[in-house]
Amino acid sequence: MGREPPKRHWRNVSELHPPGSTCDGRVRTFVRRRNPPDSEFHERCIGFAWCALCREYVGTMVYVSRREVLDDPFADLDPEERRLLYASEQRLISRLDQLPERPPQRTRRGRR
Ligand SMILES: [Zn+2]
Repeated sequence: MGREPPKRHWRNVSELHPPGSTCDGRVRTFVRRRNPPDSEFHERCIGFAWCALCREYVGTMVYVSRREVLDDPFADLDPEERRLLYASEQRLISRLDQLPERPPQRTRRGRR
């Protein structure tokens, strides 16, 4: 009695909306740096793409030049809260999906 409907979890898939998929949900994306500026892997970032309708997401490695600044929507969070958020991909995607649509995330440092 009074059973709650199962919670819909985010699922990590290898391909979002593969050929044959009938989902017409909109795909949103987010890129984040994983390594600090002094790391030789600073330019290796993780790109996420997700669809809120089928609650599936993909995470892939993407290359972002050091000259590009990535906007961090969670920059104002408490450091511990931020750490917890980034510690779980599901939690991160779920939080990102609640954010309003943002302008393109990348801006280039300097003008050349
Ligand atoms: Zn979908």
